[in-house]
Amino acid sequence: MDDLPYVYEDGFEGFDHRIIYYESSRGCPFNCQYCLSSIEKGVRIKSLPIVLKELQQFLDARVMQVKFVDRTFNCHKKHALGIWQYLHEHDNGYTNFHFEISADLLDEETIQFLKVVRPGLFQLEIGVQSTNESTIHHIKRKTNFLKLADVVKSINEGHNIHQHLDLIAGLPEEGYASFGHSFNDVYALEPHQLQLGFLKILNGSGLKKDAKKFGIIYKEKAPYEVLGTTALSYDEIIRLKMIEEMVEIYYNSGNFYFTIKYMEKYFKTPFELYEALGDYWLENNLHLLNHNKVKLYTILLEFFREILSVDEKVLMELLKFDMYLQEKVKKFPYWLERQEQYKGVTINFYKDEENIKKYLPNFGQYTSKQISRMTHLEIFPLDIIKWSKDFTKPLEWRKNAVLFDYHTRDIFRNNAKYRTVELIYNISQEM
Ligand code: SF4
Repeated sequence: MDDLPYVYEDGFEGFDHRIIYYESSRGCPFNCQYCLSSIEKGVRIKSLPIVLKELQQFLDARVMQVKFVDRTFNCHKKHALGIWQYLHEHDNGYTNFHFEISADLLDEETIQFLKVVRPGLFQLEIGVQSTNESTIHHIKRKTNFLKLADVVKSINEGHNIHQHLDLIAGLPEEGYASFGHSFNDVYALEPHQLQLGFLKILNGSGLKKDAKKFGIIYKEKAPYEVLGTTALSYDEIIRLKMIEEMVEIYYNSGNFYFTIKYMEKYFKTPFELYEALGDYWLENNLHLLNHNKVKLYTILLEFFREILSVDEKVLMELLKFDMYLQEKVKKFPYWLERQEQYKGVTINFYKDEENIKKYLPNFGQYTSKQISRMTHLEIFPLDIIKWSKDFTKPLEWRKNAVLFDYHTRDIFRNNAKYRTVELIYNISQEM
């Protein structure tokens, strides 16, 4: 590995806003039957001093993101920890590093170390693939899901690392219901991204040899994707494709966080929610069109109206909250009321210097008009912030003012920073 040329020796011109790929090891010690990396035996590792010297060039150039293509980055603890520690100590406050890891290999020392790195410095991709033990056995994976789940939860407590979890549909003996279980198990870990992939039968893989045994039918041409198995029909795969799209739109985008949290309680499992959403999209041919963000919020409201006969006022408030988390809403959907009655409250809030000092201390150099354009103050009849501290508790009707700051966003969902503000002016009198 040390003899391989460094591909970025001409510098980083033209790489602005591009992902930089980097390899510090080749091969994988594991033997997953669908994966070509399992064929090559052994793992070759680039010497740590060379890796660190090369990584320093990424840091100096302040590239946006470096994606390690190492198949299981942490299969060699000393190597992985050496790199992580160096990146932590030489952090430039900007570059993000992405790693594919086997979470159940992380020990307590490493987990505790990971909890203290800069929020946004590292991003972890963790392959779960399935939580069905028989499936895991047939594909010869070694994952200990309970250990993996503990590690993911523990890292989540640090609120500093983006975690991306993967599932694969179409694996041996993983039927539709079983995939639903795997989905719910992984969803419960609250990853920032949940990726639903579909099995590909690659030339030379163990599963290609065993395809007949598991009744796997797949495309003869690239991308060699599964079309059906003894356990999973073609129609079920099509349904799962729609669920994948729903997860991308409504979960992975992070644009519907509070609304989806609320909707979950109307379904027995999260899988059933995304299944119902997928069916609704198919029945209404919504998948045939491109929808802008505003339309996506409206579709969610209309889905809720049609599928569940419950008070939609709550949902409208949550949708509004989610919309304002993304941006200062300028294009209003038909169901969203403008808060004309609170106009006076808002103007008074921004005019009061004490409010700016207290709630927006970094905006001191701006005029109240400029600040009101960079932030947003909205009065909600529901206490969504209190509810967000514990989603198992009921959402209470209590009028409160929420300030959204679009200059400070969270690293995971790109949501504006938000907080409750106390208004001297009594908002209940404004009705
Ligand atoms: S799927 Fe991942 S862990 Fe399994 S053999 Fe391939 S690279 Fe290794």
